[in-house]
Amino acid sequence: MKGNGDQQEPLPGLRLAPVVEGTTVPLGNKAARIPGAPERKVIESATRDLLERLAELQDAFYADGRHALLLILQGRDASGKDGLIKTVYGAFNPAGVQVAAFGPPTPLELKHDFLWRVHQVVPPRGMIGVFNRSHYEDVLAVRVRQLAPESEWRERFEQINHFESMLHANGVVIRKCFLHISQDEQRERLLARLDDPRKNWKFRREDLDDRALWDDYTEAYREALTRCSTKHAPWYVVPSDEKPVRNYLVARLLVETLESLHPSYPAMKADVRDAIRDFQ
Ligand code: ATP
Repeated sequence: MKGNGDQQEPLPGLRLAPVVEGTTVPLGNKAARIPGAPERKVIESATRDLLERLAELQDAFYADGRHALLLILQGRDASGKDGLIKTVYGAFNPAGVQVAAFGPPTPLELKHDFLWRVHQVVPPRGMIGVFNRSHYEDVLAVRVRQLAPESEWRERFEQINHFESMLHANGVVIRKCFLHISQDEQRERLLARLDDPRKNWKFRREDLDDRALWDDYTEAYREALTRCSTKHAPWYVVPSDEKPVRNYLVARLLVETLESLHPSYPAMKADVRDAIRDFQ
């Protein structure tokens, strides 16, 4: 896939659709796979094309500098946030991307409003940022683990929408992906972390606690996804049991988002043009 967007769709029909406010988001185990998805070889090859295109687009996006792009990734433990970042961000020039991960807040962060730590790492114009978890933990983990009263976290849906709308008005293009895995797939992946000494460190006690709260998290995700999927900052549910499908879908979303912004290289500045007249 080369050029600038006028080519054939790489894999027709295999693309993400934004969550529509007021609808019920399917978050059952079945929704973690796309039935009849093309075979792995085909998807991986199409993804490589998308990643090549992403690299071209990012170069122009950085030079253009009119917008920032923020990709917010949420998902249960072992849903593949790290793997996705490795694959998709591998395509980029590291100078133009930044990644921020959000763990439990520090004592200082807890003394501030919940968006304080988030706002500081929003990418500046020209940059592509990814959040590995985000301010949505404050309506997910905080809700399910009962770390704040309902009256407090419920207010946050609106606060988040205001915050994201303010960012949008200031040139930040936001896309939000929920990496959706099934209970069986999570079990397999968590067990793999126990079996592989190189992955043991990733396994945390809290992962088991959260797994036991599966249905509560489903409910919390469902509400966050519907209440905070806006025109300017839509949510996408990414079926993520199959990693190649997940990578393809998110790479495609990013390509389409960047193409829609028509990034272009700024023309040479007049003073430089004058100065180089005598150059050589
Ligand atoms: P993986 O998905 O690969 O297991 P991870 O994203 O869980 O990795 P960690 O640093 O191990 O990475 O976990 C982050 C933890 O921090 C999660 O349990 C998450 O719920 C928690 N967390 C993040 N933000 C908040 C918050 N605002 N309040 C409470 N807990 C939070």
